[in-house]
Amino acid sequence: MKAYRHVNCVIPLISRASETSLQQCLEQLTKVLPEENIRPASSIPISERSRCEMAIVANPDPKEVATFTGLKWVQSLWAGVEQLVSELDNQELKIVRLIDPRLTEAMAEAVLAWTLYLHRDMPSYAWQQQQKRWRALPYHPARERTVGILGLGELGLASAKRLAANGFNVLGWSRNAKQLADISSYNGRPGLHSVLEQSQILVCLLPLTKETNKLLDKQTLSQLPKDASVINFSRGGIINTMQLVDLLDCGQLKHAVMDVFEEEPLSKKSKLWTHPNITVLPHISAPTQLQSASEIVARNIRRYRETGQLPAVVDWQLGY
Ligand code: NAP
Repeated sequence: MKAYRHVNCVIPLISRASETSLQQCLEQLTKVLPEENIRPASSIPISERSRCEMAIVANPDPKEVATFTGLKWVQSLWAGVEQLVSELDNQELKIVRLIDPRLTEAMAEAVLAWTLYLHRDMPSYAWQQQQKRWRALPYHPARERTVGILGLGELGLASAKRLAANGFNVLGWSRNAKQLADISSYNGRPGLHSVLEQSQILVCLLPLTKETNKLLDKQTLSQLPKDASVINFSRGGIINTMQLVDLLDCGQLKHAVMDVFEEEPLSKKSKLWTHPNITVLPHISAPTQLQSASEIVARNIRRYRETGQLPAVVDWQLGY
């Protein structure tokens, strides 16, 4: 097939990652894209930068991105693009996020794991063990447990399906209406209220946008049934953390599993670390897996070279 673009144009790898992980990325990308000239951004002279039309990015410094004045699109090595959208100021630039079935699988597995953790009362049994207390808590089958998933995109939908396959009663909420087998889906503000009032476990997989910023505050979280638990695997800014803590402290909510925070790493001074009803995770629910991510990136770049086409790009107005 005839090449659509001149193949020799250098592809910068722009990232604030450590030298070691930058080298690992570079090695993997070069292995799957041997025909391309992929180089760390810092090694590309300023005079050559305007000739680069695409870049591969992983938490890039926006000032460095801006020095590549001819960029048409960037391929992110991350699934979440909140930081890119908030930091880059060139809305002409198309952003392709990472959609990797292996990462999706990891997220669905994490959602199942931590839902089971809450469903089978593991935090309470861990506490009872500390107290040397021998006491069986009431058992509820999964079909009697309603789990609400906020966000039915790549990660939310796969997670919802995994929970439904494991017998849970699953509800989902998204911006657009959806028809799904085994998952009752809702949209819009009235839909959010319906999901919240039924969810004994609430899983957040929404992107952080202008609309979802602090969406889960005292007012919305109070709509959950008493003793409900919350899992946040998307972005810290979606939850008003102090109001969540208040609801845990007053016994309205039972437990929160938090993998993401407004400040990461979480400060050693944060009281979340030692809160008895909070499980703190260090942003591990679905990490980028370099090998599969590189293969996805290679496929996208080759397709662009051959046809000029990009996969779906981020909508700057919606923020995801
Ligand atoms: P996605 O495919 O873009 O899906 C986003 C979902 O959220 C869609 O269903 C969308 O609705 C819904 N949504 C967006 N804005 C909404 C609003 N205002 N009201 C109602 N629903 C709304 O995103 P994804 O790939 O599933 O990823 C979700 C998030 O997971 C990422 O943004 C990132 O923050 C996070 N993440 C976390 C980790 C981790 O390790 N913790 C790893 C990767 C990603 P429509 O379907 O109607 O568009």
